[in-house]
Amino acid sequence: MLGRMMDYPLTLRHILERSNRLFPRKEVVSRVGDGEAPMRATYGEIYPRVHRLAGALRALGVAPGDRVASLAWNHQRHLELYLAVPCMGAVLHTVNFRLFPDQIVYIVNHAEDKVLFVDPSVLPVLEPVADRLTTVEHIVIMGERPSGADRLFGWPTHEYEELLAAAPTEYPFPNLAEDTAAAVCYTSGTTGNPKGVLYSHRALTLHSLVEAMSDVLALSERDVVMPVVPMFHANSWGLPYTSTMVGATQVLPGPAPTPEALVRLIESERVTLAAGVPTVWIGILAVLQEGGGDISSLTRIMCGGSAAPRSLIETYERQFGVPIWHAWGMTEMSPLGTVAHLKSQLQDLPEEERFRYRATQGLPSALVDIKAIDDQGDDVPWDGQTLGELVVRGPWVTAGYYQEPATSECFTPDGWFRTGDVVTIDPEGYLQLADRTKDLVKSGGEWISSVDLENALMAHPKVAEAAVIAVSHPKWDERPLACVVRRREAGDVSKDELIEFLTPNFARWALPDDVVFLEEIPKTSVGKFDKKILRDRFRDYVSPAG
Ligand code: ADP
Repeated sequence: MLGRMMDYPLTLRHILERSNRLFPRKEVVSRVGDGEAPMRATYGEIYPRVHRLAGALRALGVAPGDRVASLAWNHQRHLELYLAVPCMGAVLHTVNFRLFPDQIVYIVNHAEDKVLFVDPSVLPVLEPVADRLTTVEHIVIMGERPSGADRLFGWPTHEYEELLAAAPTEYPFPNLAEDTAAAVCYTSGTTGNPKGVLYSHRALTLHSLVEAMSDVLALSERDVVMPVVPMFHANSWGLPYTSTMVGATQVLPGPAPTPEALVRLIESERVTLAAGVPTVWIGILAVLQEGGGDISSLTRIMCGGSAAPRSLIETYERQFGVPIWHAWGMTEMSPLGTVAHLKSQLQDLPEEERFRYRATQGLPSALVDIKAIDDQGDDVPWDGQTLGELVVRGPWVTAGYYQEPATSECFTPDGWFRTGDVVTIDPEGYLQLADRTKDLVKSGGEWISSVDLENALMAHPKVAEAAVIAVSHPKWDERPLACVVRRREAGDVSKDELIEFLTPNFARWALPDDVVFLEEIPKTSVGKFDKKILRDRFRDYVSPAG
């Protein structure tokens, strides 16, 4: 028997309409640059602009299903693209413009992007690759055209505001089926070419609903949300859609924000929730500890994308009274998977234990199924001890990359997505990530978690950042090498001091053989430690332990 409910498609159009109808006076604030007043617009002002943008795209020849690319920072115009492109039935491709030039060429050609929206500050990235982009027909500058040129790199070139001004105020948005493609993001492709993840309206709508839940990000109309995570990476963790859906104020940090600029924005806009990778929060911590800034408006911080060190969680809580909510996800999951909240039965545990739970990757959100499997594909027990590869399924998990076969490397025979993350799951359901498969250190038949060592090192008061990589070893195959950045103001620290600091908590064979001190840990395009670069740098490294 079928239920008797309306067939109401889950589309982003609902989010757009709702923001205008219910929250027309709530603001979207965009940082333009240092020393300049931010740009402000209400949802009520954005709504007709979204209509105009869709009309302008139509006039440029964009039809349903066509891909429209953005090469842009976090700002209001980018949000307008997030809304207009999917609602007209086209697909927004948010290009990570910090990828290598060859990768940018690959993904724009692979997605067959027809129109490129580019921030003026990103034009220098486009210039050297433009002649290799084979499908682009128009380029739209999200600011002023350089020297008024009406053609750039051979393409007809438009200014965003001119296009909008010339377009009608109303666009006849179509009634879309909920499985219509809305957006595409490419993974950064640490091995091989980047792969496209094609999100549907249904996936992004359900993702927004669940993201707003109190046991996920507890997002409401009363929040002031600042996504530091770029809008060109993993849908900015879904925050543009979720914030628009609930009518929260959005604070978009604009081009290349420094930690100082982020602190100023938190202060001046009274941000309540800010979201970013751990290196963002490490950078902001340094600013705060050097005496600058008031972050007391924050009621929580969302931190994920790579493991948030427990010491970071403790420091923010103890020094600033702000809880860090540790989340795990991936581009293939729209991106949200898990968040570390303490269950009520665990609230009475000793503080030490509570922080331990909060530093895990947490519990799966509603509608996300998780399990861990061994090499044979069998489930491993939820005992908090047994390592296995994390596999997931749910309505916002990819069912296969864009125009790629769904291989056994990516999916189990019964259709779960293989994350490539090695984890334990405890009896309560808390996920703990030991490593990415490719980052584990395989030493003499044992696995050493680089994440555990990094977390422990970053708990040392004189360490700012630490990344642990595998270096090859004639006897043990691989051994861990710790790359450490000292805390600027804290003074010197030696290798022996650090090894001694680790010793109580690690088996002898799991300790790094050596510690090298660096000025900086190289970062990926989205601010994670770039272990690929470190591995290349230390390829011929010979361990002093022999
Ligand atoms: P990229 O490959 O560019 O890092 P993603 O953002 O999709 O792209 O990366 C997802 C991966 O990031 C996960 O598979 C996991 O390895 C890592 N990750 C995400 N969140 C966390 C977290 N909270 N702790 C540890 N690792 C994380």
